[in-house]
Amino acid sequence: MTIDRVHAAREIAAENGVDLLVLTPGSDLRYLAGYDAHAMERLTALAVPRTGEPFLVVPRLEAPMVDASPAGTLGLELLAWDETDDAFALLASAATARLGSAPARVAVGARTWAEHALGVQRALPGSALGLASPVVDRLRMVKSPAEIEELALAGAAIDRVHANMDVWLTVGRTEAQVGADIAAAIIAEGHTGVDFTIVGSGPNGASPHHELSDRVVQAGDLVVVDIGGETATGYRSDCTRTYVVGGGPSAEVAEWYAVLQAAQAASTAAVRPGVTAEQIDAAARDVIEDAGWGKHFIHRTGHGIGLDTHEAPYIVAGNDIPLVPGMAFSVEPGIYLAGDCGARIEDIVVCTEDGVRTLNDGPRELVELPG
Ligand code: ZN
Ligand code: ZN
Repeated sequence: MTIDRVHAAREIAAENGVDLLVLTPGSDLRYLAGYDAHAMERLTALAVPRTGEPFLVVPRLEAPMVDASPAGTLGLELLAWDETDDAFALLASAATARLGSAPARVAVGARTWAEHALGVQRALPGSALGLASPVVDRLRMVKSPAEIEELALAGAAIDRVHANMDVWLTVGRTEAQVGADIAAAIIAEGHTGVDFTIVGSGPNGASPHHELSDRVVQAGDLVVVDIGGETATGYRSDCTRTYVVGGGPSAEVAEWYAVLQAAQAASTAAVRPGVTAEQIDAAARDVIEDAGWGKHFIHRTGHGIGLDTHEAPYIVAGNDIPLVPGMAFSVEPGIYLAGDCGARIEDIVVCTEDGVRTLNDGPRELVELPG
């Protein structure tokens, strides 16, 4: 960990006319300063004024934790506050001193708690408050080789969980039972936390964000299994496979699943520098629409992934950002037949210098489990 990311954020903030960045516990703070702080009501914040040195505002009782983290090696000035101090006033006065006057524009993290954002606003009443996303996303969207290797390790770990699905996903078990086994396996295979376990069997598969229920898996069910976790370094996995349990698919399911698979392959194949995010979405959507299933593909094609499971760039119509090498995101088209069933295929991919690298292995065909 070096101070380089903080300095890069300061440069982009200055370019964007932002006088002060304020980033609280969460992925932005972890990304920029290496401090994986616990979010709570007491203010912890990395403050990056456009001129002068950045600093950390921390509750005094947590100052030793900063020193013990990678942030402790960055040479950031630590402003520790006591329980009865006004931490926001401390932040405001230190930033104002560095800038020479109160900041006109302050940007806070998109996932900063409202009580902290409003506290900053109250302490700097003449400042316009906005979001730091345009600044930090520009950095976070483009992964370094080391970050891509972390995502690749997470991808391999979640692939190993999918590879054992025949052990857990059987006829007669509830989604909740299957999900509990999957959650244990997510940890056993190398994650430190479980982000989500979606087991959408039969009609539940038509609800893309269905998680778990007491529904019992039936012979012949299609089952959407979308799972992900967090690794020790904070990087995330996210992979969907669709299974058919205890019997093969009907002819109709086989027909539209082939369309879905072709769409997912076309979208992945379209990834290369200069292609826009919305073109990657269109590459999947066109295949599904041309085959007549367009109204059943009810979400964007994907999302960036890194220290958050969902982050920029979003792979969606209207996002004309061009891909550059190092961008990592999901390609996850789905087809959903309300009241009946659904299917989704999701891989994490990375834009490379000359194309695409996929961080999940197959199989992308409908996986038949004996049940
Ligand atoms: Zn997913
Ligand atoms: Zn996803």
